[in-house]
Amino acid sequence: MIYDLIVAGAGASGMTAAICATDADIYKQFQHKADQTRKRSVLIIEKNKKIGKKLYATGNGRCNLSNSSFRLECYNSKNEFFPYKVIGAKDYQIVNQFAEQLGVAVNDEHGYYYPMSRQASTIVWAFNDRLKKNQIQVHTGETVIGLEEQSDHTYCIQTDQGQYYARNIVLACGGAAAPALGGTDAGCSLLDQLGIPYYPFQPALCKLQVKEKMSGLAGVRSKALVTVMDASSEIHAQEFGEVQFTGQSLSGIVIFNLSHTAGEMLQDGESVSLCLDLVPDINEADLYMHFRKFRTNNPERSLQACLNGFVHEKLATYILEQCRWKQERISELNDVELQKLADQIKKLTFHVTATAGAEDAQVSRGGADTRFIDPETMKLTVQEHVYVIGELLDTDGICGGYNLMWAVITGMKAGFSIYDSN
Ligand SMILES: Cc1cc2nc3c(=O)[nH]c(=O)nc-3n(C[C@H](O)[C@H](O)[C@H](O)COP(=O)(O)OP(=O)(O)OC[C@H]3O[C@@H](n4cnc5c(N)ncnc54)[C@H](O)[C@@H]3O)c2cc1C
Repeated sequence: MIYDLIVAGAGASGMTAAICATDADIYKQFQHKADQTRKRSVLIIEKNKKIGKKLYATGNGRCNLSNSSFRLECYNSKNEFFPYKVIGAKDYQIVNQFAEQLGVAVNDEHGYYYPMSRQASTIVWAFNDRLKKNQIQVHTGETVIGLEEQSDHTYCIQTDQGQYYARNIVLACGGAAAPALGGTDAGCSLLDQLGIPYYPFQPALCKLQVKEKMSGLAGVRSKALVTVMDASSEIHAQEFGEVQFTGQSLSGIVIFNLSHTAGEMLQDGESVSLCLDLVPDINEADLYMHFRKFRTNNPERSLQACLNGFVHEKLATYILEQCRWKQERISELNDVELQKLADQIKKLTFHVTATAGAEDAQVSRGGADTRFIDPETMKLTVQEHVYVIGELLDTDGICGGYNLMWAVITGMKAGFSIYDSN
């Protein structure tokens, strides 16, 4: 038998593509074209024992599906503008409507959309039911290991359990992050077999390990404007948010979002520092003046007391440890030292030594070189009938639903292109 479509990977992107390649109602709703009902034979091959395993873990089990806020920094790719040729500011509505078409009601918390049930399992069940309704075959516990174009332009797909033939192939194998949930670089080896260049996967959306010893800060959370800088203090990225301090690393959404840039710089051999402005609402001159006033009004009070009004007391202790001063009372500090205190709070610096490993990352940076992908259809530009979607593409989003949005939008584009094909 020759399938119309074989999809490698039953994650969010692969299941979306399979459904959109077979579903007349969805085609009509989203493509606004007359019904041209087509019977497509589709097989999904998934190496995990269950479909959508990673989906269950998304959004801490709540599945942050999409986000209504959209800016140029939402996606990273070596092909800088490619993501924005694929996905646009209003596409969160498409993703939400797609979920609703599958029977999942969604609503938002400050622009972050989730299933109303706040259970990721709702999404997996909905995918599962629609795959069944559309008579899409699913082989779980089977791994795609090779693919080859035949002389008649169909493809032979080799798995660890047999061979299959298909007119169209969708590679939806995801990235290498979270191997316990199916993360693998197997997709890259399939790209290799097709001669498609790719960037090897590296962890992103993850903690950053730092050189500084800061066991006293474990458990502290503090809002900060975080700047990623190189050795010459050139700014590479900046974001405001809550930093979580652990014994050896910095974490929190703001750090996750900066981890792509930091990881890329480390890979390029650059030295990477994170400069934390712990009081971004006050400029350094005003902070210094405040310390002077504090010294005048409270000469007998401790250095710690002077800082406590501004930062968490453990951060105050850490900052004073870095200063290595013997003085105990604020009146014992001169103006230069007060200036240094202000400087420390505005520019508390940590030196990044590594990103967390793939097992602790939410996504991978790297993947298929998108210069070889048509952004309208997600089809390879150099090979007929092969599509690459989701995290296997060299595009990764920041935290907040952007990666699932990417998986669904790229899956829809590939699916509709296959639905349209003769
Ligand atoms: C803990 C965690 C939380 C997250 N939370 C969110 C969130 O709330 N919002 C958000 O937008 N993003 C989130 N993400 C990221 C998001 O889950 C992924 O970017 C997205 O699921 C990628 O979808 P995908 O279909 O491209 O890949 P995947 O979901 O990884 O699916 C790929 C599938 O292909 C299978 N596969 C791989 N190779 C083969 C092969 N050779 N043969 C057969 N099958 C194969 C894998 O087993 C896997 O099931 C989170 C990620 C993690 C790890």
